[in-house]
Formats: sequence, structure tokens, C-alpha cells
Amino acid sequence: MRFVIVHTIGTLLLWVTLVTDSFAQTFYAQGGRIADFNGKELADTFSVQIKGLPPQIDMNFGLTKVCFDITHSKVSDLKIELINPAGASIWLSNRNGGDVGANYNGTCFRANGFSGYIQDGKAPFEGEYTPNGRFEFLNNHTNPNGTWKLLISDLKTGARGSLNFFTLEFSSNPMPDLVKGPCSIENGAGCSCEEEGASCELLPDFIILPTFTQTQWKEYPKDDPYYPGQLRFAASIANIGDGPLETVGKGEWYCGDTRVDSASKCANGAFPRQKLYQRVYKKNGDKIEWHDYDAGTNYFDDQPGHNHFHVDGWVEFRLIKKQKKGLFVKKVVVGKSRKVSYCLFDSGICNNDGLCQVDSVNFGQKNLPNYGMGNYVDCKSKKQGISVGGYDTYGMMYEGQYIQLPKNLKSGQYFLEIEIDPSRIYKEKKRSNNLFTMPVVISKQS
Ligand SMILES: [Zn+2]
Repeated sequence: MRFVIVHTIGTLLLWVTLVTDSFAQTFYAQGGRIADFNGKELADTFSVQIKGLPPQIDMNFGLTKVCFDITHSKVSDLKIELINPAGASIWLSNRNGGDVGANYNGTCFRANGFSGYIQDGKAPFEGEYTPNGRFEFLNNHTNPNGTWKLLISDLKTGARGSLNFFTLEFSSNPMPDLVKGPCSIENGAGCSCEEEGASCELLPDFIILPTFTQTQWKEYPKDDPYYPGQLRFAASIANIGDGPLETVGKGEWYCGDTRVDSASKCANGAFPRQKLYQRVYKKNGDKIEWHDYDAGTNYFDDQPGHNHFHVDGWVEFRLIKKQKKGLFVKKVVVGKSRKVSYCLFDSGICNNDGLCQVDSVNFGQKNLPNYGMGNYVDCKSKKQGISVGGYDTYGMMYEGQYIQLPKNLKSGQYFLEIEIDPSRIYKEKKRSNNLFTMPVVISKQS
């Protein structure tokens, strides 16, 4: 009798395992020590060998879920990337967790994470998040069998930690909410012009997404050991236009006015600038054509956490005091950043889910007719951009995301302004929505 029961359970377990296997397979890998930042960016690499999966990952079958467990007293020091055997990579989480947040406690990531976006979560991170990057860049019609790598880079000195384990799960329907719009650079028939007619320029339109900045900003006191007297904040730029923003480099590099052969350093130690063009797409019947307009420049940025190409002068940050002058209100700039350079790529997508809400309009596939047009996945020199319905996020802990508050600044009500393309170099549909303003109360700095 006893034997029969055991046998039944055994059979049941075997059956469950087989059924599960045909739909989902999970691979486990051990972790190790995460080195502290030591002056230059150096990633700790943790690998897992995957075998026995179908020869291609895509919309139908692919990477569904990634989980890891990290012990670290300040996880916002960390950039965590995942690389597939074909070499494609995404950020799972890049410098999220704020000033004091510790640990990822068995945190999971999937395309439509139940706990929302990782940048909106609080450390210790628990549960299941949507990553900073996009799973479809990994489920990219390549062979999943081979070495997958989890890269962890500590980008700030002060805390050491460890990766305790990580797992990768593969199953069918890995990105359930992902529906790509029919409009693409290859398929003009799916694209539409704003006004009636078969032919039109498909211009981008840049906006700052308010929620990112409103939920991620902080004033640091002047005796803060890391960010003395800084107002730090996140900025996320979305493209809600008719066509992608695309910058194209053609290998025209300059040290000052002198043309040089490559992106390697000039005699004065600075990195050369590459002349850029803005590629503006045009719908002509069912065909997509384009025209390249003179635009700005880009360069190699070697700051920790970057090590890639940045488009020059993409945003400017200002701290404003409003003064009443009789009937008028005068804006006085009390603090200002340099013009800040960004890598332009789709770090996320607008899903009509509230993340891309501006003035009570929720942007996404439902109201952006050419949703998904463009595809910008990395920070290389030749091509960068933001797709229609894509956004590019810079978190508050990133290099350069601050205004240095002036000494003896009085406490009180101020306004933070973020302006996209402050030099007005790029063509777009509407300029008036390039300036974002948010009230901030500053405490006494002196
Ligand atoms: Zn960068």
C-alpha cells in the first residue's frame, strides 16, 4: 500500500516536470563577489551555460523572466546588464534604489513586470519588475543556446557586495504585451500622415515625461560627502511625434576645426567631435524616403557608467526664481547646468499606462499613429535615436544629472526647468513642449 502511494506521487511529479518542461525552462547560476568601484568602470561577469532550447528566441518563445539576489548596502551604485549568446544586451537595472536603498531580494524582471517599472520601485527590491531595458532586444531571432552573461558594474566607491544567484527562464509568449505597430522604416504603407494626403514629413516631437522627474529629485546639503550642494533629478525624454528622431554619423571627426581620422583622443586630450545629421523620414505613397539635415555633434564619453557616444548639448537644466515686477513675473536664473549630452536610445516604451502622461494625455500605441517606427538599441557613434513612442531615461544618480546650487542660496520656492535641444538644432513637430517646469522647495544651503 505504502509503495503504491509513493509510486503515484512519483509518477505525478514526473508528469508535472515533463509538462512544465515543454512550456518553461529555468536555468540557475551561482554568483560571486561584486568589486567596489576603483576609479574606472569594470564589470563583474557571471555566466550561465544554456543548452537544449529551440534554436531561435523571438516573440513566440524566448527569455521570459530573469531573477537575481544581490546583497549590497547601496544598490544605486550598480548597473546590471544581461547579454545573450549573440552579444545583444539590455539594462535590467541601472543605478536604481536612491541614496540608501540596499539589496535585491530575489528580484525578478519580465517584459510586463507586475510591480511596475524598476525605476519606480523602492529598495530593498522585492517582487517582479519591468526592467530599464527591453526584452525584445534579447529575444532577437538568435540562438539562445550558449553563454549568457550577467554583468554587474559598481560605479561609485563606498560599498561592496555580492551576487548570490541568478536564474533565467525561457517559455512561450515571452513578451505578452508587446504588439508592434505596423508602421516601420521598411513598411511605409503602415505609416500615416497627420493631415490627409499620401505624402508628408514624419517629424519627431520631444517631451519630458513629468512623472520621472517628479518622483526622482533631491536636494543634497552642502556638506554631503558625495553630492555637496547639488539638486539632482531624473529626466526622461519621449518621442510622441510622427516619425523617429534619428542622428546619423558619417565618420567626419574633428579636433577643433581640423578633420581627423577617428574617434580617438585629440592632441589636447579631449575626444574629437563627429559631425551629425538628422535623418528625417518622409512618407511618399507606400514608400519611406529620407533626407539628412545638418545637425549637432557627438563624441565618446568615458565617464563611469557611460563609455559610449553622446549627442552633444541635448538638454539644459536651470533653477529659476520667479520675481513679481508690478503686473509681470520675471524669471531669474539662479543656477544652471552645462548643456548636457545624452546617448539617445529607446530605454523604454510608452504603453498608454500612465508613464507617458503629459497634461492628462496618456501616450502609447492607442494614440500614436506611427507607434514603433524606428529602432534604437545602443549608444554607438553611427546611429542613435528615439522611436515613435519610445523614451530615453536618465536617472537622478547618473553623471551630470544635477544643478550645482549657488553658495548662500536662500531657502524658498524655486522652479526646475529642463529644456530639450536648447540650441534648437533638431527639426521637430512642435517646439513649445520642449520646456518642462516643476516647482521645487529648496532649503537653506549656507
Ligand atoms: Zn551615457
